[in-house]
Amino acid sequence: MGKEEELAGIRGRIERELDCPLKKDATNLVFGKGNVDASVLIIGEAPGKNEDLEGIPFVGKAGKNLDEYLKLAGLSLESVYIANILKYRPPKNRNPTTEEISAHTPYLLEQIRIISPLILVPLGNFATKFVLGGFSVAGMKEIEGISKLHGKKFEVEFEGRKIFVYPMYHPAAAIYNRKLIEELKKDFEALGKLD
Ligand code: URA
Repeated sequence: MGKEEELAGIRGRIERELDCPLKKDATNLVFGKGNVDASVLIIGEAPGKNEDLEGIPFVGKAGKNLDEYLKLAGLSLESVYIANILKYRPPKNRNPTTEEISAHTPYLLEQIRIISPLILVPLGNFATKFVLGGFSVAGMKEIEGISKLHGKKFEVEFEGRKIFVYPMYHPAAAIYNRKLIEELKKDFEALGKLD
């Protein structure tokens, strides 16, 4: 089975079997997009308003913004694969709850397994803590905040294989913060030079 077909199967499973209150208020499932053979998989937090309306992660302003940063690493929205921790939008873009993260992330793990990237780039606290916490909700509380971890290279084991993890601030957190914009630029430039 090809990757596209396998991903479509996971998408179908979310539609059929995910039991989560977010589902009934959301307009669309926001599954993932991009290059299924990408070496870089970006992990966002949750769909926003536009993503919910279109059913695609990082569209509109958020997508443009991320694309600008990706260019600094020699990447683009088309060259990477992008998925979120939550597959449905939380009301008013509030933070994900522990229950929601537990319910949604088994599907993210399937996406990581299928794409099989060399590098994971979690954006912001929730995605970073989930990945560095051993891909588990229980492990999240042991992990420091993104201000301590961004721009550093980590190595994790995923299904018997090593994957590099390079956490970044979430671009949405940086929109009105000059200092974070500079940090994000530096980190994306460094991502392009990782060896
Ligand atoms: N922010 C995210 O974390 N994910 C999206 O899909 C859009 C904005």
